[in-house]
Amino acid sequence: MASSIQLFGITIHAVDMTTAVQTVAEWCAKPNGSGCQYVVTPNVDHAVMFQSNAELRQAYCGAGLVLADGFPVVVASRLLHKALPERVAGSDLVPALFDWAAKRSETASADAKPLRVFLLGAAPGVADRAAQAIHQRWAGVQVVGTLAPPLGFEKDETQNEQILQAIAHAKPDVVLVGLGAPKQELWVHRHAPRLSAKAALCVGATIDFLAGEKKRSPRWMQRLGLEWFHRLTTDPSRLAKRYLRDAWIFPQLVWREWRGC
Ligand code: UDP
Repeated sequence: MASSIQLFGITIHAVDMTTAVQTVAEWCAKPNGSGCQYVVTPNVDHAVMFQSNAELRQAYCGAGLVLADGFPVVVASRLLHKALPERVAGSDLVPALFDWAAKRSETASADAKPLRVFLLGAAPGVADRAAQAIHQRWAGVQVVGTLAPPLGFEKDETQNEQILQAIAHAKPDVVLVGLGAPKQELWVHRHAPRLSAKAALCVGATIDFLAGEKKRSPRWMQRLGLEWFHRLTTDPSRLAKRYLRDAWIFPQLVWREWRGC
């Protein structure tokens, strides 16, 4: 198992992108029926929610891989002398995993199977567009199903059952779960024992990014740790209140950790 650090009460795996991809690839190499492991990707907002949301803490406990998505989380780890190797954002992990699958399909024998992927989440039609974009860009990745459940689906047992059956029918290796936090983490934690996949990745807006529905910040902004600012300017009505709260609480978490409280 990968080494880990404790930050704000969260166990975060101290891995780089290459190791994260390898780990998910190893899960995918297991035989069907070996169970579904899942990935969560803490950012500042998760760290803040984590303090007051017991269900989210449980969901994190069940994760096979906890990757530092937020640049401020990585910076805090360095300030607090628990340095994480690098930021491993969910939206970067997915293309990196697909690159790995494409390379595998190039180098492996002709009967090598593609990586089977199911897309769960985003607005109606978006996952289908993401599927088209994936097929165009990555040979070796096959989208075997998409679903955009309506708002509030998670409270409806019939709908949850239908989703689990659709996934079981499609037999994916990986389910990309883009339902926003903490919904995606709680849903995956609750249903992982019955998820017919080898890996589930809780990856927020990644399906939107793959479809071209939302644009990620330019690389230079990502490198300077300003992706949050780009998101804020593109979706201010949804994010302003959240970011204000996080900007108030997160420094307090860093301070508490610094003082060893
Ligand atoms: N979403 C969804 N169903 C829901 C709530 C959200 O499919 O019930 C999708 C939404 O369409 C978008 C993604 O979840 O594609 C939100 O991801 P983001 O990372 O922006 O969410 P956050 O965690 O920042 O709230």
